[in-house]
Amino acid sequence: MAEDCMPTRHPAPYPDSPVFRFAPSPNGLLHLGHALSALMNHDMASAQGGRFLLRIEDIDVARCTPEFEEMIYRDLAWLGLTWEMPVRRQSEHFDFYRQALDRLQDMGLVYPAFMTRGEVKSRVADYERGGGSWPRDPDGSPLYPHDDRHRSETERRQLIAEGVRHAYRLDMDRAMAAAGKALSWKETGEDRIREVTADPGLWGDVVLSRSDAPSSYHLSVVTDDALQGITHVVRGQDLSASTAVHRLLQVLLDLPEPVYHHHRLILDSDGRKLSKSEGSTGIAILRDEGLLADDIRRLVGL
Ligand code: GLU
Repeated sequence: MAEDCMPTRHPAPYPDSPVFRFAPSPNGLLHLGHALSALMNHDMASAQGGRFLLRIEDIDVARCTPEFEEMIYRDLAWLGLTWEMPVRRQSEHFDFYRQALDRLQDMGLVYPAFMTRGEVKSRVADYERGGGSWPRDPDGSPLYPHDDRHRSETERRQLIAEGVRHAYRLDMDRAMAAAGKALSWKETGEDRIREVTADPGLWGDVVLSRSDAPSSYHLSVVTDDALQGITHVVRGQDLSASTAVHRLLQVLLDLPEPVYHHHRLILDSDGRKLSKSEGSTGIAILRDEGLLADDIRRLVGL
């Protein structure tokens, strides 16, 4: 396997042809929301004479399975999509994400975080019992407390040597200061590009490397998009707020800036986002019921 090498500079703002990607996680069956994303990426790539890549985002090795991965290939092929080979599978590239983490660590922007989810929860509950309101990120999760930011190097080493489980988190205040400028991203709409202000501070000290996986969604998605030369990130509206973190990491790691398009979501009859555990909108289930690929296109409004 060719060794990954951190790209530091984009060869040109827009390389010869646009590059799109669909990047599902094989932790469940694809549903209509995934179909919309995959079809949009594929159609936009074809319309613009661009490339279409498929990336398997399986850093969560406990929840991702080869069976779900197989189903992704099967569902996408059935929808009529073709993609370039080989497919990039994130679980095979942890060393690559580690290089990016090391760079951020060398910049003094990363710290080991020892609090468990339960500890954070009870800290927040204690605080809120006192009448305060703990800040939450755009997904509604409480921001990570700052205690671990301030530990001494000796204390950190000792806890790690004792085998205390830990993640690595970005010190958001330092990271934003290091970026040193207001951040934004280019969002493509129906017919024009607009600049959207990015506020990564809303997410607090995000995880860059988990205690159970040596990377995180944010770190692997930005480094892979750069490595694969992705020029257009087309994904669901639910990931729009995360783009602020991605822009910050791109600036810190000196990575190229793709343009983004966050598309509408397919909602269930109660107006909620579809989940992989709800069978009724699963592509495989609709196929088994006798629907055709064109029916799926119609169902997702394409
Ligand atoms: N792997 C993510 C998901 O399945 C998508 C990441 C992205 O498109 O940036 O939700």
